[in-house]
Amino acid sequence: MIVGAGPVGLMVARELARLGVPHVVLEALARPSELPKANGIVGRAVPLLRPLFPGARPAPRFMYGGFALDLRRLRDNPVWVLPVPQRRLEEVLAVGVPVRRGHTVGGLVADPAGIEVSVEGPSGAYTLRGSYVVGCDGAHSFVRKAAGISFDGSSDDGVVTRSAHVVLPRRALTRVRGLLRAPGVPYRPYLFHRTAGGVFSFARFGGGPHLVTTLEWGAGHDETAPMTVGELRESLARVLGSPVLLGSPPASGGPYVLRRATSRQNRIASSYRAGRVLLAGDAAHVVAGFGGPALNLGLFDAVELAGRLARDDVSGYDEARRPFAQRVLASAREQAELLAPGPSTDALRVRFAAYLRTPEGLRRVADTIGGG
Ligand SMILES: Cc1cc2nc3c(=O)[nH]c(=O)nc-3n(C[C@H](O)[C@H](O)[C@H](O)COP(=O)(O)OP(=O)(O)OC[C@H]3O[C@@H](n4cnc5c(N)ncnc54)[C@H](O)[C@@H]3O)c2cc1C
Repeated sequence: MIVGAGPVGLMVARELARLGVPHVVLEALARPSELPKANGIVGRAVPLLRPLFPGARPAPRFMYGGFALDLRRLRDNPVWVLPVPQRRLEEVLAVGVPVRRGHTVGGLVADPAGIEVSVEGPSGAYTLRGSYVVGCDGAHSFVRKAAGISFDGSSDDGVVTRSAHVVLPRRALTRVRGLLRAPGVPYRPYLFHRTAGGVFSFARFGGGPHLVTTLEWGAGHDETAPMTVGELRESLARVLGSPVLLGSPPASGGPYVLRRATSRQNRIASSYRAGRVLLAGDAAHVVAGFGGPALNLGLFDAVELAGRLARDDVSGYDEARRPFAQRVLASAREQAELLAPGPSTDALRVRFAAYLRTPEGLRRVADTIGGG
């Protein structure tokens, strides 16, 4: 019984179907969410999806901690990139997967012979019995909580992240390479840039408006006020040290991102398994990552778990998958340290730049980004 039809739950279902394991997918939402989330998948999970998304290849360049990486130096580049909006990814993964939509799981009871879930469906409450429950129900996972599994880690409350789709006027960008004009050097898209005032990035996915993101450490803000493009404009001016004209996105064609987050979460389930309950994807780990590491992890969880369910031996699942999430969590902290303000970070960045120039340094960083 798979709880949640996000990308990870759908991937588990597809794999179980391929391996001939009977299953059911229970999804609380009556229809797929329209909210913009991931802009793409980064890493070795991309080739797993090649039959569904042909044509993806490893990226010649990527970023880490505000450094541009030249991945053409690597013989076997693991940093595959599939720039697909999450909505589209879910749409494609859902083809041929029967999902009980509008069915919310609200209880779990296990016994030696099986496990029963209580479901609230469109026609009322019912129970369902099976051999395992797979919690793919996201960061706030009901399944994880019901199984008594803690979600250990930290929230970094000193950083405010603001993100919005905006229109950057043509004169704000250089004509040939689309760099952002600002005092000093122009800034490249698809990178996190560290300045004296914080961090920012801008990028354009799929021809729509630009997605602009800022990070500020310890900046005062009113948490109750709704986020606005004006607030992002002010934040960007503080980070860049000079104003950039940002226009609101068009009224049609959304929904667009307009978001302020006041804490960055890095957490991992204390166990990926409790008896007949298993966790995968965001239910098992959340990463305040730079560069989109979450789907890579979650899709690999799905493939690993489905294979083990097909063999009816899930005993090593936690040990097989935990190290990958731990590595990504460590790298999220490392990147946050490399991007933080202050002179000690300046010194750290000089050392890290030298490390990235070594073949071992680039290899280690690329393997962390690309590894499943
Ligand atoms: C703004 C944003 C940008 C992101 N960008 C990227 C990116 O570029 N790259 C990347 O790799 N990752 C990115 N992520 C992370 C990525 O979106 C998540 O890792 C991904 O959604 C996790 O998938 P999942 O299937 O584990 O969980 P979810 O997508 O959260 O799906 C969980 C599903 O479970 C359902 N559910 C919950 N509770 C119940 C219940 N009790 N009963 C039944 N159903 C239930 C929910 O309705 C939901 O459909 C981003 C996230 C955000 C918020």
